[in-house]
Amino acid sequence: LIQHLRAASVGREDAVFATQPKTAGGDVTFGALFARAEQMAAALVSRGVEPGDRVAVQVHKSLAAIELYLGTVMAGAIFLPLNTAYTDAEVAYFIADATPRVFVCDPDRETGLREVAGAAEIVTLDRNGQGTLSVLADGQGGFDPVAREADDLAAILYTSGTTGRSKGAMLSHANLYSNSLTLRDYWQFTSDDVLIHALPIFHTHGLFVATNVALLSGASVVFLPGFDGEAILDAMPGATALMGVPTFYTRLLADPRLTRESAANMRLFISGSAPLLVDTHEQWEMRTGHRILERYGMTETNMSTSNPYKGERRAGTVGFPLPGVEARVMKDGAEVPTGEIGVLEVRGPNVFQGYWQMPEKTAEELQADGWFITGDMAKIDADGYVTIVGRQKDLVITGGFNVYPKEVESLIDDLPGVLESAVIGVPHPDFGEAVVAVVVPEGEGTSAEAITAALSGQLARFKQPKEIILLDALPRNTMGKVQKKALREEYAGLFA
Ligand code: ATP
Ligand code: MG
Repeated sequence: LIQHLRAASVGREDAVFATQPKTAGGDVTFGALFARAEQMAAALVSRGVEPGDRVAVQVHKSLAAIELYLGTVMAGAIFLPLNTAYTDAEVAYFIADATPRVFVCDPDRETGLREVAGAAEIVTLDRNGQGTLSVLADGQGGFDPVAREADDLAAILYTSGTTGRSKGAMLSHANLYSNSLTLRDYWQFTSDDVLIHALPIFHTHGLFVATNVALLSGASVVFLPGFDGEAILDAMPGATALMGVPTFYTRLLADPRLTRESAANMRLFISGSAPLLVDTHEQWEMRTGHRILERYGMTETNMSTSNPYKGERRAGTVGFPLPGVEARVMKDGAEVPTGEIGVLEVRGPNVFQGYWQMPEKTAEELQADGWFITGDMAKIDADGYVTIVGRQKDLVITGGFNVYPKEVESLIDDLPGVLESAVIGVPHPDFGEAVVAVVVPEGEGTSAEAITAALSGQLARFKQPKEIILLDALPRNTMGKVQKKALREEYAGLFA
């Protein structure tokens, strides 16, 4: 992986990783980036890190954190990034599960995390790239990357924990390399590109999709510490591409500076990690003249499907299986007829090596013939476009009938005075589960009665919400994913 990333990017002295604000590392050439990564690798090895060891990392987004990622993989070790929002108690679970050799954390968190670090040695790195790790790295010379096989692990990435406890997805060098190569070519990234990077780097989207694709194309990167609408709009005239989660796009739409002119230099806006509302897609096109390219992936599979670069980018769909990736929709052990809903399975070089320390779960979901059961419900239409209709775990079964939340949500979202909605199932004494809609009003607003009246003619009775709750905002995590689990817990007692 490292050799490919380095070969593609180093030598382009004009291409830089430019951090904003400059304090977080300044502008560096790819040559300097990899030179520092070598020092990071040497620093880790000096602390006893051996090939196959885990290096757990919970630090703010910075250039140094990217250098640490590259350095870890150069050392033949396994990079294991953790969400910066995780508390000490939450980190304790990951450390106990992954038993890292070294744990890199922010100096501000060191005292608390020392309690949970177990046998891992703690070193520090702050948001400006300073700390005991950087001091260690300063004293190092160059480093020859440790040779690794295609199937050796490069990273363990924990899933977002949307449906339950996070699972460690084991990703090999070949998983990461093959996917970034595919995406680079599918989305036509070249060294002429300038990518705005505003995503977190503890998640597959910002770490592998954005970072690896940029390095593998030798594209320049405008590296922001996090989402900042102003900074993105400032960067757009000098940039060509943005990768974001749907909330990036809804927030940018709220800024009057977003116009056809401000987006004129951009060639590509990519969205993923959570469903993009059709409405957002349409508004974006009206405002900027660009159609957002939506793709679909998971921690376990990297990216599996994408709307086309040249062909029709169909709103509400996640496009086609990527080259080399197969997708099928299954129900009761057989593929469903075209256009029908079932559970999506994918197979290809992108699919992970299994869940860390969870052989039973791995065996259940990653089948012997390579097909991985994603847990997402989907349909594939006659043109080959894949539509994600929701997670299997979010399916509502009421009185023995299946209700796909997306079907109900789409109708509610289209009603006047509605911004968005989340449909969940909550325990019900008669029906097993009852359909409940949580709705966020906008503009003129709406009422439960208005929604009920509007849906009555459009939906079979069993699909109609038994209760409609109006809220100011849906609970979301950092990746913009709606936390349906939290909603189900909140309203569990509604019919008790
Ligand atoms: P956990 O597996 O721990 O419950 P998670 O599934 O949210 O958490 P991730 O691997 O970060 O963890 O997210 C992958 C999921 O995100 C997919 O399975 C899918 O449900 C959703 N997703 C990603 N991209 C899209 C998209 N474009 N449209 C709809 N859903 C998407
Ligand atoms: Mg998941």
